[in-house]
Amino acid sequence: MEAEKVKCLIIGSGPAGYTAAIYAARANLSPVLYEGLQPGGQLTTTTDIENFPGYPEGISGTQMMDDLRRQAERFGTDLRYGVATAADLSRSPYKITIDEEKVIEAQTIIIATGAAAKYLGLEDEKKYAGMGVSACATCDGFFYRKKVVAVVGGGDTACEEASYLAGLASKVYLIVRKPFLRASKIMQERVMKDEKIEVLFEHNAVGLYGDNGVEGVHLVKRMGESDEQRYDLAIDGFFLAIGHKPNSDIFKPYVDTDETGYILTEPGTPRTKVPGVFAAGDVADPHYRQAITAAATGCMAAIEAERFLLN
Ligand code: NDP
Repeated sequence: MEAEKVKCLIIGSGPAGYTAAIYAARANLSPVLYEGLQPGGQLTTTTDIENFPGYPEGISGTQMMDDLRRQAERFGTDLRYGVATAADLSRSPYKITIDEEKVIEAQTIIIATGAAAKYLGLEDEKKYAGMGVSACATCDGFFYRKKVVAVVGGGDTACEEASYLAGLASKVYLIVRKPFLRASKIMQERVMKDEKIEVLFEHNAVGLYGDNGVEGVHLVKRMGESDEQRYDLAIDGFFLAIGHKPNSDIFKPYVDTDETGYILTEPGTPRTKVPGVFAAGDVADPHYRQAITAAATGCMAAIEAERFLLN
């Protein structure tokens, strides 16, 4: 297999990857960045980013990622399409296989592969994939204009997706398994005030039905309690917003991870237990998962890579 040697390989193109690229390029590390399956990462599927400092009016996720990409490119980052499909971090130079056909030998690696949306694990989610089931309201919301949809989850993502969908759909049910929302106060208020959103607390979705795509969801209220109630609710679209799984599988044999798969780093740094291999952004962050924190750890990882190469 063809092999190419690089000083600094960055895997992933969210705010962590691009910020690492900006810093690494400016430090003359000639970084090569592989963008992965979803160039720009999760923020390209979000609506407006209202909490990134410096944008008093907010900025769209796609615009921010496009700006970051161009900034990384301006300083000489070699941006490439391709997915890291295998890793050998057993000895330096570390080997990363791209698209199962090309090997990059890297002195330093910044893992910024992010996280992917989780599903409930229902057979029906697979059955109706692309036929009414989605994990991205901004990608697919358009198809549900003036229709009835349900969003599963009680965190910030679920509230954000529900609010976004309320701007398109005629009705949005928010299916929350607990008797409360876990989202930030401001998002909770936005959801509770929206007349189009109805929050179904203490509800679990256990299946979907429909002949040509999703026509409804099987719900259980107060599952397992003496007053448990089962009923069906007619909907056209079913959106998952129940959290994410870090994209760390290929690195797991070499770096430490927690039980969910988040890469463990030395506290306060992006250093993994493999010298010269750093993890930045959501793949190593079960707690904050913000664009600003991802960008910050991307910056830290690039500075660490530079120091590692100097030494
Ligand atoms: P969270 O982990 O915060 O919330 C996940 C939600 O899904 C919880 O309500 C959880 O319920 C529910 N859930 C999980 N598994 C299941 C299941 N099997 N069945 C039913 N419900 C389930 O994830 P988010 O993606 O919402 O947020 C992740 C992080 O990103 C957070 O730190 C959040 O603040 C941040 N974020 C910030 C935004 C912003 O600031 N604009 C926007 C989006 C996210 P339970 O509470 O019972 O565990």
